[in-house]
Amino acid sequence: MTEAMSIDTASRQDSVPPKRISFNFVDRCNMTCSFCYIPFDNIRVNVEVAANVIEVILRWSPASITVGGGDPLMYRFTPDLLRHIRDLAGPALFLQLDTNLMRPERCDLAAIAKSVDMVGVPLDTFDTAVAWQMRGNGGHPRQIGALIPTILRAGTSVKVNTVVARPNLVSLPELADFVAEANVQAWSLYEFWPIGPRAVANRAAMAVDHAEFRKAVEEASGRAHGVNVETGAIRARRSAYFFVTPTGRAYTVDGNDHSQYAELGNILEDEPGVLSRWHRHADEVVNEERVRQRAGWAHSGRLRAAGCHS
Ligand code: SF4
Repeated sequence: MTEAMSIDTASRQDSVPPKRISFNFVDRCNMTCSFCYIPFDNIRVNVEVAANVIEVILRWSPASITVGGGDPLMYRFTPDLLRHIRDLAGPALFLQLDTNLMRPERCDLAAIAKSVDMVGVPLDTFDTAVAWQMRGNGGHPRQIGALIPTILRAGTSVKVNTVVARPNLVSLPELADFVAEANVQAWSLYEFWPIGPRAVANRAAMAVDHAEFRKAVEEASGRAHGVNVETGAIRARRSAYFFVTPTGRAYTVDGNDHSQYAELGNILEDEPGVLSRWHRHADEVVNEERVRQRAGWAHSGRLRAAGCHS
């Protein structure tokens, strides 16, 4: 291969965009989780700029977008933004909303269900003291538990997101029984990851040994009958992410130091540079994993909601 050819191949690979994108709100959050992994920047979100960012990432023809971060439903424009994404991308895109549902009275879950394939909700324990320690809110788990049937009735699939940390290891059996009983489509068990300022600061209280994580997750998976369980070990996730904020700031996990983020630049100002830098840290194959699986779970959830059990 000539030098010119190899440079050309490298630059083409460098411009391949991610297939799975996390559109993360990082301005602020309405919770104070001890394990929070978000690198907040307190830059206020503007709906026009957010729509521009969406237009750029949709040009990349992603297979999946997860709108998450600090609660996206804090922003009144989020339901419209989700509808806008669906209108532009059509049914082929797998669209997920991750929300802590702190203010459920402010949103119309039935309307949101029309735009998204899956709603991810956090639930780490039903123990009030553990909930205080992990999320600074003892009543939140019961609130989420009560809202799940409403989301399912609205016609969208539900994924329960559990961060597995030292305080809630003992809570996993009860959560397994709950997700099975609640009939949710998926349960993700994420290994606590000391990344982001708050998670790093609380590492001593939160960290679990990887072998302990695997054992606890294996036991919990065995109890969660009928639920698709997704295991989120750090080593399986660390080269997977492409994060972009509603202001266009892009970041990912640093390929050389998995306890830090690498800033990639702003996609509204330097789209080729962002993509090129992303390839230095992430793996596009790992990035795309799980998209088809989650889409399949959401599809079966819709069939179930429509009363089709075949
Ligand atoms: S983990 Fe999520 S809900 Fe908790 S503080 Fe961070 S962004 Fe907010």
